[in-house]
Amino acid sequence: MEILKSIEDVRSWRALHQEVAFVPTMGNLHAGHLSLVKRAQEASKNVIVSIFVNPLQFGEGEDLDSYPRTLDADMEKLIDAGVSALFLPTAEILYEDDPFIIQPPQSLIADLCGKDRPGHFEGVATVVAKFFNIVEPTYACFGKKDYQQLRVIESMVSALNFDIKIIPVAIERADEGLALSSRNGYLSNKERAQALLLSQTLLAMKSEIEGLSKDQKIVTNSYQALEVKMTALLQAGGFIVDYLTIRAQKTLKKALAQDKDLVILVAAKVGKTRLLDNVELNI
Ligand code: AMP
Repeated sequence: MEILKSIEDVRSWRALHQEVAFVPTMGNLHAGHLSLVKRAQEASKNVIVSIFVNPLQFGEGEDLDSYPRTLDADMEKLIDAGVSALFLPTAEILYEDDPFIIQPPQSLIADLCGKDRPGHFEGVATVVAKFFNIVEPTYACFGKKDYQQLRVIESMVSALNFDIKIIPVAIERADEGLALSSRNGYLSNKERAQALLLSQTLLAMKSEIEGLSKDQKIVTNSYQALEVKMTALLQAGGFIVDYLTIRAQKTLKKALAQDKDLVILVAAKVGKTRLLDNVELNI
């Protein structure tokens, strides 16, 4: 695996290949990241991964300083996986003192995680746009775990005319259902046990909606009632719920009775750790 530290290194490596597939990460790699790598390898044999904890996407009081950094272990995993190149930039080579920021449309970021984390998606869009211009990938893989992020990136690619195919990848979970995340490492044993309620709640909501749809009884209020009921259940299980909401997959707007392709999105804190999860359903 080639280690690329400068923008020039990446451009020279890129020039050797006709097609490349790109997997951007913040490191502390787990099986979720490796499933993106695997999907990227199906698209192209030339896979480049980046590891960069992007300061622009962290707000004040968030975990930028304590975010887990495990470069040696990450490199071993990427070598084992047969990755071709690893890009390890620093903030110094990427950003000016007063960085140029990409502003996603409010219709995509005013709600959900964008509401709870002002500036977050501006930071994500900015770093991903820079990586796209540096790496010039043919394909780029993003996890559905960060569902709103995936929509922001897809929208950016379309709006800014990047000639890149975005490949969404399904959420990788631990055996008990917990969605894998670098932030799971912050959980105590007790919190981890509590956290299982998150995916269980999503699956319970999914079955209720599928049941409703069978009986042809859906009105938009059914969704609201279900959100309220299940939010209370999560709160009773020790969560502080930022949102638990049933949305249309494409637009992320509140689901209406006639919508067929839905996603149930949740962000909730257990202790100090904010967890994200979601489940798609087609009714
Ligand atoms: P991160 O390192 O957390 O920024 O994540 C890098 C990429 O991996 C993003 O596209 C995430 O959506 C994706 N990812 C993180 N966790 C998972 C997971 N459990 N399953 C699938 N993709 C994931």
